[in-house]
Amino acid sequence: MATLGELSARVPDWCPGCGNFAILNALKKSIVDLKIDPKDFVLTAGIGCSGKTPQWLNTYSIHTLHGRALPVATGVKLANGDLTVVVSGGDGDGYGIGIGHFIHAMRRNIDITYLVHDNQVYGLTTGQTSPTSEKGYVSKSTPAGVIEVPVNPIALAIESGATYVARAYAGDLMHLSGIITEAIKHKGFSLVDILQPCVTFNRRNTYDWFQKVVYKLPSEYDPKDKQAALLKAEEWGEKTGIPIGVLYRSERPTYSDEVPQLKTPIVKQSLDIDIDRLMAKLV
Ligand code: SF4
Repeated sequence: MATLGELSARVPDWCPGCGNFAILNALKKSIVDLKIDPKDFVLTAGIGCSGKTPQWLNTYSIHTLHGRALPVATGVKLANGDLTVVVSGGDGDGYGIGIGHFIHAMRRNIDITYLVHDNQVYGLTTGQTSPTSEKGYVSKSTPAGVIEVPVNPIALAIESGATYVARAYAGDLMHLSGIITEAIKHKGFSLVDILQPCVTFNRRNTYDWFQKVVYKLPSEYDPKDKQAALLKAEEWGEKTGIPIGVLYRSERPTYSDEVPQLKTPIVKQSLDIDIDRLMAKLV
């Protein structure tokens, strides 16, 4: 009989019903739909329940430190621009400890896709308030309710220079996969903020609640209209609903486009150095 460790190496050990299952399956579908060879795909991940995603995807992957998945992904992409690079992380990971990296990766318009499993709580550490927890949210770390206002990742991304900003919902796998596919195809930094119910620790933002408030952007919505996108970014909760879909899209050169030395992937450039002499000097 397989041990628990052996089993979790093969089968996701997220809590039954966790929104992460849908995100993993949607990502797999996108990779297949785009016919991406696993050897040309790299997934980097941070720390948290979402950080385990690479364990169950048969591609190259790097499980990095807390909040550090974006700089690692940036390094991979700059070294080999031919690779498809996707990042998986949570709201605590990306909008908390990693928020500086988040902003700078968007300013640079690095050509990567960032999937944020946004469940408004720290799941892996058993239910503390996260940067996207709503004001008043009661948890073991804020027993009297959150005082701060939550981070608004959509508005932050639009203002920080991301060129594809979308929101999706783990309760609608086909729509989510379509959004991920478009995000991967987009040239530039893509954020997909995914509403991912944490069925164990978040008793407020549940599937039932999201089913009531989530709505798809209408076909006439124009994602090129930045002001309209910023207004949509403000929508959250029962009064306004929560829009899902591509909220903002624009075009500008990526970081690699601006650096002539990166036109040919670094890994394909010949190193015009005497490696033996260099090693003799260094070692
Ligand atoms: Fe999912 Fe929450 Fe369980 Fe983590 S703790 S696996 S986020 S349901």
